[in-house]
Amino acid sequence: MIFSDQHMHSDFSGDSDAKMSDMINSAINKGLKTICFTDHYDPLFPCYTPEEDNIFDLDTKKYHENAVIIRNDESIQSKINVRIGMELGIYPKVYEMCKGIVKEYPYDFIILSSHTAGETDPYLPSYWEGINPIDGIKKYYEEILLNLQNFDDFDIYGHLDYCVRYTKTTKEQRSIDTYKEIFREIFRIIVDKNKGIEINSGGLRKGNLNEFNPSPEILSFYKECGGEIITFGSDAHNPDDIAYGINEACEVLKNIGFKYIAEFKERKASYIKI
Ligand SMILES: [Zn+2]
Ligand SMILES: [Zn+2]
Repeated sequence: MIFSDQHMHSDFSGDSDAKMSDMINSAINKGLKTICFTDHYDPLFPCYTPEEDNIFDLDTKKYHENAVIIRNDESIQSKINVRIGMELGIYPKVYEMCKGIVKEYPYDFIILSSHTAGETDPYLPSYWEGINPIDGIKKYYEEILLNLQNFDDFDIYGHLDYCVRYTKTTKEQRSIDTYKEIFREIFRIIVDKNKGIEINSGGLRKGNLNEFNPSPEILSFYKECGGEIITFGSDAHNPDDIAYGINEACEVLKNIGFKYIAEFKERKASYIKI
């Protein structure tokens, strides 16, 4: 069993209205032992219209102040461990900015995520215009590799195959066999740097595929490449979605051969048997 959800958002994120207190209460009601807020910070997010400019900025000062209040609240501590992390959206132009952002406050956990490739979000239909699906997917994975070669200050890489949620592809077009050499290098770096990945259930709720991100075949290849560090994240943006798919995720991981789930405090992993 898994009792920790290490990826969720609150109204500190531009795309969530959820109060932290409502998220915490829902997690307690669902029987979780540990949660981590990972609100979005995508510095200079490149894709939206001027009206939506800075939609994924994070008020880190306020966020941290709130975190301290929660950490010191004994009525919460007695029921659940609440950690404060961040989902940092990265792309080449912001490497230097991101280095500063991570160091600004003492976070428990940093998820590094690619929400764009070539400065366009695969969530937008325009990403897929004029490019065949395989090249669109490849472009996304190649940018993950570039980010890994240039940025170290994170704990796990988020929803590795996020791009496939948003385009129509055949099984063959998505198959890891098409991208295996890129993934071999991605996982070599992740394992060498002692980082991890997550099993993210957001794709079960959103997008075309009703599958975890990354898919079980990518998770299997991670294991084959020596990957051990893995967290569970619902990517919930509202209280109802907390822990979504947590038992299924546990089964998927066990079937692949994972024995432990990781959770992070003060940027250090602990491992809990599943
Ligand atoms: Zn994300
Ligand atoms: Zn997220």
